[in-house]
Amino acid sequence: MARITLISTGGTIASRWQGTGYAADAGGDTVLASAALPEGVEVTVVDLFNVNSSRMTTELQLTLLRTVREVLADPAVDGIVVTHGTDTLEESAFLLDLHHDDPRPVVFTGAQKPLGQAEGDGPGNMYDALQLAANVRDLGVLIAFDGKVHAARGTVKTQTLAADAFADPSAGPLGRLGFGRVDIRHKPSRPAPLPEPQAGEAIPRVDIVMHHSDADATLFEAAVAAGARGIVLVATGAGNATPELVDAVSSAVRRGVLVAVSTRVSAGPLAEIYTGGGAVDLVAAGAVLSGTLRAGQTRIAVLAALLADVSPAARPDLLGRLIDAPGALPAGEEPTGEQTAA
Ligand code: ASP
Repeated sequence: MARITLISTGGTIASRWQGTGYAADAGGDTVLASAALPEGVEVTVVDLFNVNSSRMTTELQLTLLRTVREVLADPAVDGIVVTHGTDTLEESAFLLDLHHDDPRPVVFTGAQKPLGQAEGDGPGNMYDALQLAANVRDLGVLIAFDGKVHAARGTVKTQTLAADAFADPSAGPLGRLGFGRVDIRHKPSRPAPLPEPQAGEAIPRVDIVMHHSDADATLFEAAVAAGARGIVLVATGAGNATPELVDAVSSAVRRGVLVAVSTRVSAGPLAEIYTGGGAVDLVAAGAVLSGTLRAGQTRIAVLAALLADVSPAARPDLLGRLIDAPGALPAGEEPTGEQTAA
């Protein structure tokens, strides 16, 4: 028997009609009861919280991280499934992945259609997530959704309503699920895991500011003035902005703010190509380019670097290490073929 712990945090998979709209209100037992159980899997439920994930906070995410570690302290547990709203699932999953140092899997899942809806996707996703959690090791934190297995790193929500809600636009999925089979074709690249952040530390403010035509440095400087200890500049193209924003980045870095640059473009890596306000100048000003991570996960990498017990001078290097995971599957390639577990 595989022993899986289900940690329930809310989201559409736990959402029901509230009279004016949907909101998460069902406990983990109810969500679990909506799905069939894979053969040979025994489930223990932990009701951690019940929120729509657009309301997620670092405090809740750190509570989830600590709960996962507490559950895995029991050697009888074979794996964990976390049900989570899809809106910020990629952020929570990546924060956990950066700290995950256990061969046993943590599998995130959720739904695009609410609990109890005929032909909803929640029950199938739950079944697949349990099946995956019971059958794999050494893959870090995963996302099981619409018959696909995604690494936490690099995966983003790419569809607001469609069932195939997640993808890494710069790479393919790790594998596929279905008909009781787990087919993993690629191992994700993961940096060495971070130690658990110390409890009781003040949570640093990390803001995201987007560049666009006409943008000046007002919002970036407002983030610094608001006390941000980290800022993600969502630049255009391969990481480009303006000379004014480069000056603002340079002055923020001199004040000890950790600055990362991501992009508005959905796929592909950041690259130092342009000067005159481009990535060449942003890097020279002290910013760290985000590789193929998009804004939400870049923010999580900045947050993790700020929560880590390292000196401020060492943080840009640490951030670079958390961002850079060579060996990702080239864009467009899809896993195909053999079954590795059932
Ligand atoms: N708004 C929901 C949430 O993230 C969406 C979902 O779960 O699919 O909580």
